[in-house]
Amino acid sequence: MKRSIIGNQAVAYGALAAGVDVASGYPGTPSSEALTELLHFSQNNNPSPYVEWSVNEKVAFEIATGAAWAGKRALVTMKMSGANVAADSILSVAYSGTKGGLVLYIADDPGVEAGMPEQDTRLFAQWAGLPVLEPADPGRVYELTRYAFELSEKCELPVILRSVTSVAHAKQEVEGEYTYKPLGRKPEFEKNIFRYTKAGSAICIAQHEALLDRLAVVERTVRDTGINMMVESGDRNGLFLVAAGALIPYVREALSSWDHQNLSTLFLESVYPLDKELAGKMFEAAETILVLEELEPFVEMQLRSEASRLGWNGSILGKLDGLLPRVGKYSQEVIGRGLKTLASGMAGHSAATSRPVVSSERSDPGNEESAAEQPVAAELSVKHPITFCAGCPHRGTFLAVNRALKKIGLNQDNTVVTGDIGCTILGMNPPFHTCWTEVSMGSSIGLAQGFYWAGIENPVIATIGDSTFFHAGIPPLVNAVQHGANLLVIILDNGWTSMTGFQVNPGTSEQFQAKGARRVDIEGIVRGMGVENLQVIGPFDQEQSIEAIIKALQQEGVKVIISQAECALTVARREKRTLIYQIDSQKCTFCRSCLRETGCPALYVTANGKKSKHGQVMAIDPQACTGCGLCYTCCKFDAIHEQKLGG
Ligand code: SF4
Ligand code: SF4
Repeated sequence: MKRSIIGNQAVAYGALAAGVDVASGYPGTPSSEALTELLHFSQNNNPSPYVEWSVNEKVAFEIATGAAWAGKRALVTMKMSGANVAADSILSVAYSGTKGGLVLYIADDPGVEAGMPEQDTRLFAQWAGLPVLEPADPGRVYELTRYAFELSEKCELPVILRSVTSVAHAKQEVEGEYTYKPLGRKPEFEKNIFRYTKAGSAICIAQHEALLDRLAVVERTVRDTGINMMVESGDRNGLFLVAAGALIPYVREALSSWDHQNLSTLFLESVYPLDKELAGKMFEAAETILVLEELEPFVEMQLRSEASRLGWNGSILGKLDGLLPRVGKYSQEVIGRGLKTLASGMAGHSAATSRPVVSSERSDPGNEESAAEQPVAAELSVKHPITFCAGCPHRGTFLAVNRALKKIGLNQDNTVVTGDIGCTILGMNPPFHTCWTEVSMGSSIGLAQGFYWAGIENPVIATIGDSTFFHAGIPPLVNAVQHGANLLVIILDNGWTSMTGFQVNPGTSEQFQAKGARRVDIEGIVRGMGVENLQVIGPFDQEQSIEAIIKALQQEGVKVIISQAECALTVARREKRTLIYQIDSQKCTFCRSCLRETGCPALYVTANGKKSKHGQVMAIDPQACTGCGLCYTCCKFDAIHEQKLGG
């Protein structure tokens, strides 16, 4: 069926034809009509994907990510400036990759029709390490949107579909299906902290390497599709014209009335990573190359780099030699100027001599050195889980989450609990193994919504610290309330920004705020958002905490629990302890429940026991114990008891 549609609508219908399950976005010219069309479709059709305008681009991206990580296909839309808002999460998710197809539709605005900088998303994509497809017209937008989902799944990477105003708003008769073809996938999220968190340098470095490997797969995969097309002219005059994305139809138009020398062409709709094999073929035949692309010399820089690496001695004409502008849209006059220069043989600078040599191999000079250092590092390394400090209130919260799940027949391996940045993420480590994800500040709540809208059946829980909540957790919670997501958000409020050195945050007690500053109340904020199911718990009171969590999990809609107790270290800095716990070695059976469940670093093994098989028992370091009492709640043998400290 043919319909006359604009480029943005083509994104919507391409996504529907690809079976998109979840679509989110934030409006911004020139991208908005893509999600508007999907929203309109979802309101008038059944079945249809879940579609929402999110509170901002970062939250929209996190929702799409959650859905894609659950194996569904997800689309997120925004204008170029929105990528800056979502950058924190985009760069982090690039390292983790994706499972279901995840497509970011980002529309740039050369010529600034709607205000804001002439930001070139292709540079953003290169920075993030994500592949870019750049369709030439609405028909190609439709085709490449469909393909972007396939590419994303094949290469396990989010794919950026980049458009510009002249394509996003151009109208064309487009052959398409104009129906929704749901794939009917069952949502499943694999618990894998090595992939979905950033817990430690080894994990981050391995993810970075995986990202580079996936980009290499993208390069090979796209090559096989023929998306990028090279056509050599019959007279082999060595003159090549390279055009990217939106300029391709304009260049075709210019060439249709071109009555000078025949030119060979390379039209690129997949601009990153550069297809080096195809570029190499062009260099073999070319003497002078003209690169036509709007905004930054993105393709040109990649070609110059490759030319230097290959020792190619021809010339590249474009923006870097000052021939063509880096600002505004390209008119036929600009394109014509480039063509004439190319045909006249007025070569610019020699690419091979003006650029430094760059190796095509992924060169990492640090690798050899670090490999040489590895044995030393290995000798020095000590394997121990990073966990909460002795007396940390977050230990109580995660203990209560795990206990509550167990009580209702679930557990931390079948219940998605999203984690966030800061001390609270230690909930993913032993002995808790509670958190499944860590992406960026505030992302726990956005991701949780993505998992929910993907259709994950068990309850979804988001965990976030107080400082992180103030930083970037408020917008996604507003979003969850607005759209009626069914999830539990636990704000672990210890009153400080602890992990970075106990800085104050807006929720820190008034007595520690700077002169003239005041405390902002989390509870008031949450109530002000319209969250009706709000409970405040003390995490050391396990009975109360477990009961509150179970109650919340049994309610519908957005539930919030504020788990409030001050950071143990800030308390210890100013207050003397009055109570600690000790273990009676005569009663301890060395069952180790106290250690297994709490992982408290104040607990240690000692050889003084009589009841245990090997004479070993648990003991508590009296210097480290804060008297929180959590280990006491684990012991079935009455071996742990309070000890008052003399005044
Ligand atoms: S839970 Fe009780 S009995 Fe078991 S190891 Fe700890 S102190 Fe000993
Ligand atoms: S009471 Fe138990 S859990 Fe709490 S700090 Fe002391 S040893 Fe650790």
